[in-house]
This record gives sequence, structure tokens and C-alpha cells, in this order.
Amino acid sequence: QSELIKANFTDKLNEYGLADEIQVVSTGCFGFCEKGPIVKILPDNTFYTQVTPEDVAEIVDEHIIKGRKVERLLFIDPETKETVGDSKGMEFYKKQIRIALRNCGFINPENIEEYIGRDGYAALGTCISEKTPDEVIKTVKDSGLRGRGGGGFPTGLKWELTRKSVSDQKYVVCNADEGDPGAFMDRSILEGDPHSVLEAMAICGYCIGADKGLVYIRAEYPLAIERLKIAIDQAREYGLLGDDILGTGFNFDVEIRYGAGAFVCGEETALIHSMEGKRGEPTVKPPFPAEKGYNGKPTNVNNVETFANIPVIINKGAEWFASIGTEKSKGTKVFALAGKINNVGLIEVPMGITLREIIYDIGGGIKDGREFKAVQTGGPSGGCLTKSFLDTPIDYDNLVAAGSMMGSGGMIVLDDSDCMVAIAKFYLEFTLDESCGKCTPCRIGNKRLHEILEKITNGNGELEDLNRLRMLSNVIKDTSLCGLGQTSPNPVLSTLDNFYDEYLAHVTTHK
Ligand code: SF4
Repeated sequence: QSELIKANFTDKLNEYGLADEIQVVSTGCFGFCEKGPIVKILPDNTFYTQVTPEDVAEIVDEHIIKGRKVERLLFIDPETKETVGDSKGMEFYKKQIRIALRNCGFINPENIEEYIGRDGYAALGTCISEKTPDEVIKTVKDSGLRGRGGGGFPTGLKWELTRKSVSDQKYVVCNADEGDPGAFMDRSILEGDPHSVLEAMAICGYCIGADKGLVYIRAEYPLAIERLKIAIDQAREYGLLGDDILGTGFNFDVEIRYGAGAFVCGEETALIHSMEGKRGEPTVKPPFPAEKGYNGKPTNVNNVETFANIPVIINKGAEWFASIGTEKSKGTKVFALAGKINNVGLIEVPMGITLREIIYDIGGGIKDGREFKAVQTGGPSGGCLTKSFLDTPIDYDNLVAAGSMMGSGGMIVLDDSDCMVAIAKFYLEFTLDESCGKCTPCRIGNKRLHEILEKITNGNGELEDLNRLRMLSNVIKDTSLCGLGQTSPNPVLSTLDNFYDEYLAHVTTHK
């Protein structure tokens, strides 16, 4: 559809002989999936939503030629946050703060000059020509940025640990393998703003003493890969990657490695093994990658979203970043908002926002006027939060305290027609499939857990099965080797905690 819209614009502008004057450019994702395809007209920032190929002629005739906006397609501008549309105007962008997604939808990701035009590579220039690695690490530490891939480990501290490891060779790795079902945060950043990640990787390389970066990206992301390759070539051409960057003597280059979206490769040691051409299986830590990572050398692994925050932190300062969010979770988080919600899309919100604000203000409420029942956060190994958590500020620690987790940013909304036992079984099926099979609690324990859930949902469950579910879940949590196994029973435990009556109904009335 978008390709057709673009082609129609080109044809129509050709008819008017304006093809040389007005550019038609593909951008990255605006985030507002529910209202796509989106067309933005510059310089006046007009934001047209749900555009069809048939609308193109009217937009050109009315807006471009006669200077009159096409009212029926108008909406609100995500940058100025002004309502420029009709009564369809919703709150989708108003409570968002776009840091990691700052350039998505605003620049042509295939043109480095557009990135440079929005302060791109300024942070790298400042770091390598004006600051010591320790000063940059201090800024990242002071900002309070925590890893956005799920673990929430302080980013500056991670960089410092890798810096302190002594070695002739170190690596910076960007995890772009995004294995959560329904999550597309990293893909969107790479498709819409690949230079922000490259710039941040180079800054990280400067800090830890690495001259080589590797992006581990899932092969099923062809557009992200294509744009990343273009960005790497352009950065080299502009002297922003490669040898002697900006004449400072600092060398850093980036290569791409392909993954297959295995969920377990979100675990750093599994990811590193996969990059080395081995089976993507985790190993016990220590040693941590900061000491012994890729090819046995000190390696710093961060995910795409974490890196995308770095240039802004350098440009605007740690204090500015730390002023957003909660005491222990600074900045923003990108979530893929999906499920039974009116405004499906990619959102970036300040830490500390409540679920109610996300679901009702940004998300526009529950689809078809139904009742909210729960929201699954943290991906397949997260937990289901009920109405009682609607006013809980969202941050790393509150989500864990509520029996869920931040994860990489999947957020799936459920309504009153969803059976929570079936939901728990659905997520467990995913982790069961994705378990690498290395350790027994995860490989066998989850299988047994799934069998019990199947028995219950088939109407053959017994009251004792509910105790077995809890007991087995706790054993898997406590004894699995890596994060995948340790968190895999979360959907079962959180639904047992919050929806015990539904389990009870299955084992007492479904016979
Ligand atoms: Fe593999 Fe699961 Fe064990 Fe992790 S917990 S090492 S995914 S079997």
C-alpha cells in the first residue's frame, strides 16, 4: 500500500512538472500503526493518516497545488503535538516523549545528511575530540540509563566494566535479534534511524577501547538490514566510521552478523556463541562478556533501543535525561502496544507513566467498548497485570514487584472475553518452543507445566493440579540456567495469583 501511495505521488507530481521541486521520500515508522499509512507534508508538518492510493490525487491537487489541507485526512502532529486534524484527534502522541524514536518518521533513513541535520554524529564528535572515555562513561552513568533489552542493567556501569578489562582486542555488540512475538521496537529504530545506533556504537567503542562493532540482527528483517548497510557505507564515506574518525586518530568500524530471531539469543552468552558460529546456548556467568565475550575477548553488548538513547544523552546532558522518569528508572521506554486496544502501535513513554494513561489516553481504550481485563508486559515470559495495577507507575522495579517485568517492551492488552488460563498456556507454548534444551528444569519442567495446563484447559484438571503448577513453576524459576528458563513460568504464576478463580472454574466446572 505505502509503495503504491509513493508511486502515485511521484506520478501525480510528474503530471504537474513538480518532480524536481518536491521530493517523495520513504521514512521510518511513525508509530501510529492503527492510523497508517501516514503521509507527512513538509515544510508545513501536515500529518495525514489512513491515506489510500486513491487519496493521493486529492492531496496533490488541494494541498500542494492550491494550499488547502485535506481536512478529512488530518490528524495531530507528533512533533509539535498540535492538533492539526479534525475531531478524530486523539491523545496518541501527547503523552509520548520520543528520544529513542526521535528521528523515526522525520528523516530519510537512507540519507546521512538528514541525520546530520538533526544533530547526528555531533555527540560522537564531542566525545572523541573533547572528552576522555572516563568522562563519557560518567555521563552515561549519571544519566541513569538502564539496558532496554529486558535486564535493566545500568548501561554506564556495563561500559565501565568492559573498559576496565585489559585486552589487545575488544568488541561492541548491538543486539538487534528481537525475538519477542509482536515486538518491533528495534526493527523500527533500525529502519527509521540506523545512524543513531552506529553513532552510539562508535561512542561505546571509544569508551571501552574497542575498534570493532558487530550488529547481530535477525535475518528476517530485510529492510532494517538494507538500511543498516546503506548507513554503514555512508558513515564510512563521510569519515564517521573506519580509520582516523574525524581526524582524531580514533578507529572504529561496524560489521553485520545474522541471527534467526531465537528468543534465547537475547541472553548475551547465547548471542555471542551464535555470532561465533556455535549453537546459541547460554553458559554460566561469570565470566561475563565484559571480561570474556566474543572470541574470548571483552565485549559490551547492548540492544538497539539502549544505543539509540546515547547520542541524545551526550548532546543534552545526563541531567536532562535523568530528569525524565522515576527515581531508579530514568528516561523513556518504547513499547509495542498490541492486542484488544483501539490504537495499536509503537509508543515511547516516560518511565513512571501509568498503565491507565497508556491504555486509555494513548491507546484510546479497549476495542469494541469491551472491559479491560489484563495487560501482558515483558513479552512471553512477563506477567499479566490486572485492573488493580492500572495506576501503578511503570518502571523496572514496579513491574517486577507486580509479578511481571519490563522485558524488551511487548505490551499486549486483553479484554473480558480472554481466558487467562488459555493465555498462560499460549505463552508457555512459545517459551517451550524457544528453550534451547540445555538444562533440565527448563527443557523438561516447562513441558510438564504445559501438560498440566493442557489437562486443565481440556476439562480434565483437578484441584491438586493448581498446587502442582505453582510448585513446578517455582522449581523452574529457581533452578534454570538462564533468564529464559528463570522467567518462563511468569505467565503461569501471575495468572495463578491474579486470576485464581478462572483456574478454579476450569477444574471444578469443566468436567
Ligand atoms: Fe536453555 Fe532454558 Fe536452560 Fe536457558 S534455561 S539454558 S533456554 S534450557
